[in-house]
Amino acid sequence: MPRTIPRRPLPPSLYADTAPPAPTTTELAGDVTAKIAIIGGGFTGLSTVLHLAEAGVDAVMIEANEIGWGASGRNGGQVNPGLKWEPEELEAGFGPDLGARMVRLGSEAPGLVFDLVERHGIACAPRRGGTIRAAVSPRSAVGVRSYQRQWAARGADVVIAEGAALAKLTGTRAYPLGAHDRRGGQVQPLAYARGLAGAALKAGARIFTGSPALSLARKGGGWRVTTPAGTVTAERVVLATNGYSDDLWPGLRRSVIPVYSSITATAPLPPDIASAIMPNGVVLYEMSSTYAYYRMDEAGRFLMGGRSALRDTSDPHDFAGLVVHAKELFPALDVATWTHCWNGQVAVTWDHLPHVHEPEPGIHIGLGYNGRGVAMATAMGRMLARRATGGGPETLDLPVTSIQPILGHFAWPLAVKSRLKWDRLREVVGLA
Ligand SMILES: Cc1cc2nc3c(=O)[nH]c(=O)nc-3n(C[C@H](O)[C@H](O)[C@H](O)COP(=O)(O)OP(=O)(O)OC[C@H]3O[C@@H](n4cnc5c(N)ncnc54)[C@H](O)[C@@H]3O)c2cc1C
Repeated sequence: MPRTIPRRPLPPSLYADTAPPAPTTTELAGDVTAKIAIIGGGFTGLSTVLHLAEAGVDAVMIEANEIGWGASGRNGGQVNPGLKWEPEELEAGFGPDLGARMVRLGSEAPGLVFDLVERHGIACAPRRGGTIRAAVSPRSAVGVRSYQRQWAARGADVVIAEGAALAKLTGTRAYPLGAHDRRGGQVQPLAYARGLAGAALKAGARIFTGSPALSLARKGGGWRVTTPAGTVTAERVVLATNGYSDDLWPGLRRSVIPVYSSITATAPLPPDIASAIMPNGVVLYEMSSTYAYYRMDEAGRFLMGGRSALRDTSDPHDFAGLVVHAKELFPALDVATWTHCWNGQVAVTWDHLPHVHEPEPGIHIGLGYNGRGVAMATAMGRMLARRATGGGPETLDLPVTSIQPILGHFAWPLAVKSRLKWDRLREVVGLA
């Protein structure tokens, strides 16, 4: 008896209200075959299916809900370079070949996003004003300086901004210093996801929505994916379900912690206020226990993101802390009307690196961007497309690891709450 899962609509958000419509797609009905099947319609799956279709490979993508329904249609829109590990850590931990490739992968990922947007004419309000990693204390300033030094030594366009220069870039004097990383920028993420889907369809891919994969089983030399009303039989399968992974592949759901992150956004601000906050389109994230990140969009709305209630919510009370912090940074926001609030789940891995798994021949899995997935998931999709079409191990700029379910996974909300309290305490006593 097949399980049935109702299709879930996109949660209400600023993005859902302002993105161009999604391309028309239907539920999978009947049996289809393809060379490669992709499960999950976020940036990982969309980039995989687009790169496959562009290479002339017969590919079918199935998404349980809507295009960009997961984190991809809800995130901060910050196109951030790099992995969570700094270049020196990567090179020391993975050696001069793979480590250097991992550094390059993180460095080049934002460029891939902006290239795709340009090449496919995706209307997603792209701006490449850079990313600021902002220090909130003398201790975090040491980390920010180290980040800048390591990337600049590798030729990346990253500079330290402080004092008046930083205040001019951001519109606030709240931070002692920041690293301005000019490789980064911003997009409207749901519009980007829908644009990738449109480009993939144009290139010949087949995409089905409202079509959850209920089971995945060997079929001859390949695999068969079963949905409520059909099947896809393919030589290989790419799993791109990230923080919304279910029990389709044994252990995968428990290999990541699906931490929540929240965003609230204002109505377009009066021009005199809007022009004083991040005037060149830079985006910012803090090195703080609130994990705050924010940006101004092309219409002069302020989007503030950070710590979240650990459940789905769009109750404004759950977002009050974000509004308070935004007003501390920018008192002019006192006059703002906060029109939208939403949240979503980020896949965090035990080592804070994205994971690639190949648990059986013909199964390719990429996930775990630790809140850095706009650029990295796009880059992951391109890598998985190359690997799934027979590319050797060198086409993967990440190590292939076994799936390791996290011990005590069922208690993750408690562990996350304790960790956030611990981080805050360290900050208060000056240890962070
Ligand atoms: C609030 C928030 C803010 C964030 N801010 C940023 C940011 O500013 N910058 C940044 O770089 N990253 C950010 N991130 C992280 C980023 O959004 C993710 O890393 C990225 O979108 C991951 O893409 P994905 O395709 O791997 O996963 P997702 O976009 O989560 O997609 C997974 C998809 O798989 C589908 N699925 C699951 N199971 C099945 C099944 N059995 N069958 C079919 N489909 C299935 C789901 O419906 C879902 O659509 C943020 C995330 C959140 C939630």
